[in-house]
Amino acid sequence: MSNTVYFDTLHAAVRQIATKVAAVNAADVDSRARFPQETIAALKEARVLSAPVPSEFGGPGLNMKQLSTLCATLSGACGSSGMVLAMHFIQVACVVRHHGDSAFFKRYLAEIVATQPLLASITSEVGTFGDTRSSVCAVQRQDGQFILNKKATTGSYCGHADAILVTCRRDESAPKSDQSLVLVRKTDGTLIQTTTWDTMGMRGTCSPGFDLESSGPEEQIMPVGFGDIAAQTMVPYSHILWSALWWGIASDAVSKASVYVRGEARKNPGTVPPTATRLAEVSVQLQAMKNNWQTIAGEFDTFMSEPDSAEQLLSLGWALKMNNLKIASSDTAPQIVHKALQIVGIMGYKNDSPLSLGRHYRDALSGSLMISNDRIASKSASMLLVFKDD
Ligand SMILES: Cc1cc2nc3c(=O)[nH]c(=O)nc-3n(C[C@H](O)[C@H](O)[C@H](O)COP(=O)(O)OP(=O)(O)OC[C@H]3O[C@@H](n4cnc5c(N)ncnc54)[C@H](O)[C@@H]3O)c2cc1C
Repeated sequence: MSNTVYFDTLHAAVRQIATKVAAVNAADVDSRARFPQETIAALKEARVLSAPVPSEFGGPGLNMKQLSTLCATLSGACGSSGMVLAMHFIQVACVVRHHGDSAFFKRYLAEIVATQPLLASITSEVGTFGDTRSSVCAVQRQDGQFILNKKATTGSYCGHADAILVTCRRDESAPKSDQSLVLVRKTDGTLIQTTTWDTMGMRGTCSPGFDLESSGPEEQIMPVGFGDIAAQTMVPYSHILWSALWWGIASDAVSKASVYVRGEARKNPGTVPPTATRLAEVSVQLQAMKNNWQTIAGEFDTFMSEPDSAEQLLSLGWALKMNNLKIASSDTAPQIVHKALQIVGIMGYKNDSPLSLGRHYRDALSGSLMISNDRIASKSASMLLVFKDD
């Protein structure tokens, strides 16, 4: 099968799952802050979880634009499900792009295709204050085994995942920014939940704090340092896939506003309701947001076909572009949902209305906190002191 046929098949499956499963369960997932297990089970069944794995390991090898589209489609129906899928894809992409020819990780990629495991991530840690590029805990190596214990502040769906990629210092003598990434399988240790996850939005991501205690074969430590993995893969995949999914939430809110406006128009045939002008205004912002993530996803895919892709991904210009995309998308999504709410009015404000926008609004608000926009902006500010755009 060609890449396009694979994408069309998986996209059709995700569309089906979005309407038939995710949308149906979204209100319950949100109100009970429960994991969207039906949706994730359906994605596994449709073999969506191996979408980023390249053909040499038996997967479809979807590119950034294609993966982003899948996340956007699902998040329109349920933001939490879209976020779980995006976070899983980010982890799979880290293994795809940084296995460093390790026999273990090559086998693991084939295993992802065969068994569709769900992968989670723990970068957060008590004492690092939201800085993903530093760790307190360190991985220890002993007789071919690793030992890794970590106190995580926020770990999305870790209690439901088959494996977690965990950041830590490279060894006990390494400074906080000299990090490794370790694959910890569910069977490698224990997770003790230390905090709750009763949040405004993204409630179905189930992201409380955890104490992780784990050990396993040393080959599960990724052969490439986390600094390179973060710059070349984790950051671009996170910011592009998240932007697509925030757009998916905003787009669904605008669809509900359109339904409302068309209803108003039908009540007075031959007239354009005043809310139609507001709809026209918000559609400008929605289109700009879509163009932003789609263009940058396309640019990433073009890099991938060029021999100096690593160099381009490590450039200041690209880092600034990533930061700008993340800040713009996470700021714009709640603004768009807010405007949709002004159009729909009370029917959007009610939780039990078919045009309800409460969940969209609350889910979209997480974007600017998920890696704080202030933290990202301060990094951009330092880069802009030396960056010259040619
Ligand atoms: C829905 C959701 C899911 C998540 N899932 C995961 C997960 O699966 N795994 C995981 O490890 N983590 C996860 N996280 C955590 C996330 O990655 C961040 O670590 C966390 O959101 C940062 O928390 P914080 O606001 O306390 O951190 P900080 O970044 O320390 O921010 C605290 C405050 O300081 C301010 N601030 C920080 N730096 C600066 C600066 N330089 N200049 C000015 N002000 C600054 C911020 O604006 C904020 O007010 C998730 C978060 C969310 C919202």
